[in-house]
Amino acid sequence: MITIKSGREIEIMRRGGKITARTLGMLIRAVRPGMTTGDLDRLAERSIREQGGEPTFKGYNGFPASICASINDVVVHGIPGDRVLREGDLLSIDIGTTFEGYVSDSAVTVPVGTVSSGAIRLIRVTQECLMLGIAQMQRGHRLSDIGHAVQQHAERHGYGVVRALVGHGIGQKMHEDPQVPNFGRAGDGVVLRPGLCLAIEPMISQGTFEVEMLEDGWTVVTADGKLSAHFEHTVALTQDGPRILTLRDILEHADVSHYRPKEEMAA
Ligand code: MG
Ligand code: MG
Repeated sequence: MITIKSGREIEIMRRGGKITARTLGMLIRAVRPGMTTGDLDRLAERSIREQGGEPTFKGYNGFPASICASINDVVVHGIPGDRVLREGDLLSIDIGTTFEGYVSDSAVTVPVGTVSSGAIRLIRVTQECLMLGIAQMQRGHRLSDIGHAVQQHAERHGYGVVRALVGHGIGQKMHEDPQVPNFGRAGDGVVLRPGLCLAIEPMISQGTFEVEMLEDGWTVVTADGKLSAHFEHTVALTQDGPRILTLRDILEHADVSHYRPKEEMAA
């Protein structure tokens, strides 16, 4: 069942989304070679709690941490721990906050130190996919218009769109109806209307869209071992169009514009 949120509920989600956004912004600035994914997890949990939120992921279906930390070929749901971040890694960080009974969910992919130009391109295109998907969240559009826009952009760049995992409705629960695939033809599914809140989250891979699950029951990797990136925002459709509830305080595109690939650094 799809729940339509009131203005009051969206305002609560916006306040919770700020906690998610600030925490993710802090983590982006903290990432550096030599630290562990467990270090990032501890920073995240402290930040969320200090701002009056609860880390949604911790204990969710038994997940042991406050963030997912997914390195290189890990698509999503990497468990933070002792793994040390190395120069050249591609790191996806996914976090969720529960605030006054409502959830916000957001993810980014960032380079650890300097990475290949191919990795930078994957980051840029995946972030563009997210923004193009969000731009389709308009009154009167259909649900599949979102995934269609994501798929078109990713495949134009020769990338694979992960199909086994999808975005979702969000509100009092992290995962509500409807599912929001990142692929498909335009013009299908429910008609979008104000009050709809979605977590839109393209997962884009350099190679195949096929994924596999590791033995821990969480970690999802690309089947061919190639890199994957993940960006996510919690978005409300308002009378004025889509409103990103997890927007960070620096311009979204400024987030990645300062990344410089190895080849350029050497030149
Ligand atoms: Mg997420
Ligand atoms: Mg999500």
